[in-house]
Amino acid sequence: MFLSLILGALAGFADIFGGLVLVRRNWPHHYLRYFIALGAGFMMAVAVLDMIPESMRFSAAWTPALVLIGYCIIHLLEHTITPHFHFGEETHGHEFLHARTGWSVLFGLAVHAFFDGVAIASGFVLSSSLGWLIFLAIFLHKIPEGFTIASVMLASGRTRGAALVSAVLLAVATVAGVLIIGLLPHWVRIGLPLSAGVAIYVAATDLLPETNREPGIGMALVFFLGVAVFLLIRVLAPV
Ligand SMILES: [Zn+2]
Ligand SMILES: [Zn+2]
Repeated sequence: MFLSLILGALAGFADIFGGLVLVRRNWPHHYLRYFIALGAGFMMAVAVLDMIPESMRFSAAWTPALVLIGYCIIHLLEHTITPHFHFGEETHGHEFLHARTGWSVLFGLAVHAFFDGVAIASGFVLSSSLGWLIFLAIFLHKIPEGFTIASVMLASGRTRGAALVSAVLLAVATVAGVLIIGLLPHWVRIGLPLSAGVAIYVAATDLLPETNREPGIGMALVFFLGVAVFLLIRVLAPV
């Protein structure tokens, strides 16, 4: 519980750091794309090869439905209620982003960040090696996540201060997700498959399209590197 709180807070700080990178224009941010691609591959592998099989051990009957529900919740919040949302820097500001859009993106991302925290804590309820793997998968996309929300808030007409506060809110939502599972560990049987669905959504629908927008195959290969790093860790340190 203590360790998952520390790591949840660390993931939250990555959100805030991502917000800072955006707000401080002079900080370099090109390298964030590598985190997005690496995080997509690693997260996809953790969700499919660890989170789903571990959930199946609780309930083989309910796991597939809960994974689908997790996937649908994030699609609803990020892309249905919010008509325009994508990971990475928001550069189409005047075209799309009304003031209200900023808030709905923040709400959708906050629920997603909450499940980031649920995933980390659920992993630690089962075993510390699973907890660390899930933490690593989540951590890789946290800096780009904070960067994204800060950029959306700025593009929808908020101040730099408000943009940074929105990244702080994502950090708070992440820690709240850790706390819920930390206080009610038996909810792991629902939290783990739900957050597996969320992780698949984030990897395949939020992160991967961003890496695919890059010209050339370099960034696409970084996705495979993410999968390979996961497999390597799994071989070296079996759960
Ligand atoms: Zn846009
Ligand atoms: Zn996230």
